[in-house]
Amino acid sequence: MNIDVGLPAEHGTRPKLGLARQRQGGSQAAREGCYPLVERQGIDAFMSLRLPEADADVLARRDEIVAAMRAIVPGEGVIDDPDMLRPYESDGLTAYRQPPMLAVLPETTEQVSLILRWCHDNGVKVVPRGAGTSLSGGALPLADAVLLGMAKFNRILEIDYLDRIAVVQPGVTNLGVSQAVADEGFYYAPDPSSQIACSIGGNVAENSGGVHCLKYGLTTNNVLGVELVMMDGQILRLGGRTLDSAGLDLLGVVVGSEGLLGVVTQVTLRILPQPEMARALLIGFSSVEAAGQCVADVIAGGIIPAGMEMMDRPAVHAAEAFVNVGYPLDVEALLIVELDGPENECAYLIGEVERIALANGAISCRISRDEEERLSFWAGRKAAFPAVGRLAPDYYCMDGTIPRRRLPQVLRGISEMSERHGLGVANVFHAGDGNLHPLILYDANQPGQLERAEAFGNDILRLCVEVGGVLTGEHGVGVEKRDLMPVMFSEVDLAHQQRLKCAFDPDLLLNPGKMFPVLHRCAELGRMHVHHGQVPFPELPRF
Ligand SMILES: Cc1cc2nc3c(=O)[nH]c(=O)nc-3n(C[C@H](O)[C@H](O)[C@H](O)COP(=O)(O)OP(=O)(O)OC[C@H]3O[C@@H](n4cnc5c(N)ncnc54)[C@H](O)[C@@H]3O)c2cc1C
Repeated sequence: MNIDVGLPAEHGTRPKLGLARQRQGGSQAAREGCYPLVERQGIDAFMSLRLPEADADVLARRDEIVAAMRAIVPGEGVIDDPDMLRPYESDGLTAYRQPPMLAVLPETTEQVSLILRWCHDNGVKVVPRGAGTSLSGGALPLADAVLLGMAKFNRILEIDYLDRIAVVQPGVTNLGVSQAVADEGFYYAPDPSSQIACSIGGNVAENSGGVHCLKYGLTTNNVLGVELVMMDGQILRLGGRTLDSAGLDLLGVVVGSEGLLGVVTQVTLRILPQPEMARALLIGFSSVEAAGQCVADVIAGGIIPAGMEMMDRPAVHAAEAFVNVGYPLDVEALLIVELDGPENECAYLIGEVERIALANGAISCRISRDEEERLSFWAGRKAAFPAVGRLAPDYYCMDGTIPRRRLPQVLRGISEMSERHGLGVANVFHAGDGNLHPLILYDANQPGQLERAEAFGNDILRLCVEVGGVLTGEHGVGVEKRDLMPVMFSEVDLAHQQRLKCAFDPDLLLNPGKMFPVLHRCAELGRMHVHHGQVPFPELPRF
């Protein structure tokens, strides 16, 4: 299901459709922010996506921009043919699409630096892109921006087993890193489900997570250093080859910055020795409350499993029908708990988890006897998204995080919302770290269902914040959750975050329209609001 966000102004067509945004949501400033309104066709105007207005002057200079890019990246590295640009018009948030003005595929840091400097000097926006699997629209192009594709940065530059690091280019896939070091008994721990496709650059930008992040940390805990090209073309090196480095922690700022602060051109990663053994338990419960309590008790008991995932009844049934691995079908919730480490430690911890599960009323418990069975336990979980895809023509994957002890309350809330919005939901989540992935079921061909799905999703994220959680777990803010940021952050919080953005990119040319609900000019930040795009004292120069 695809929906056009809009077409370049040069096509003479009014932008059409966009992302849902609730009329009641956010602060007054966010509601009246200076993004132009992009309405959905035929749909109430409050269901709308606001993106920075395409700059007619930039669009008129397209040929000149293409020529400048070709002078930097010769050969096939500059794409301006509309048909060839189609693959770039969307990312993993496929409900929205927007062809870029042009795409540039550099191969060296020097080329990235020259591209950014030229765009900076000529007022042209840039949207970085890795593999395009973002689920929050982080890599969604803009009609008047250069799409900077990093796919050709696909080399592993160095592996040092003694220091346990790998230096890679950002276009290398997440799984590619583990595969490159597997023969020596090593792996890269953060493992997003999209690891076969997503790039390390995208992982850094989104601070991606996965099943094993409960024990081994998110991307931010496994990145030691980056090379970053700023919007003005300057090349920075942040962090290094060790766990800590002197000075302000700018590396911590850059990881998770969603392509807004600079373009990552090299990454130094921690690699870990593979554990001696790993075993998993498959534990069934007659209520999600009992499963949630079991999760809380395992962690409270001082056990950090390598992974602890939960699926509710609809997800279990869909997964079992998809992979036939023998999941119990008489349960309301299923936990998969993996323990790893030396054999004795693993055996002891398995006993402890089993004891806690039974104390919480587990109605079934299987322990993997060999590697094949362990992998079969995971097969259903890993196939849960495509499996849920069989339940309805479309689903909308949400991503919020809550304190673990609130799990039963939030799941009850989601179930009530499901009734209220009249849409089904299947819950799959990283239970150990409280990261929910409710999959809202809908049919885009039924009028109004997409809007109801988006309103349902917004309600879930509001509930996450209400119970002390956060708007995102691992998928980022992008455009998807941008307008909900004021639900979580005060205007002061947001202004300070944007000040940081201004320190890296004062002209707001890098990936604009993402993450921040209101586009302040850097010179004005914190001093005045721009109301309906009318800047006070417009005659004064701004810099
Ligand atoms: C089926 C599926 C399952 C998924 N499962 C998970 C999961 O388990 N855990 C998880 O965390 N995510 C998951 N995701 C989301 C997604 O895969 C991650 O966010 C991933 O890190 C995005 O990487 P990418 O290379 O595709 O980046 P893109 O989608 O291309 O870009 C994502 C963001 O990173 C920026 N960016 C990309 N490259 C660079 C660079 N070199 N320098 C600066 N900025 C850059 C872009 O501007 C954009 O803002 C899933 C997605 C899908 C489709």
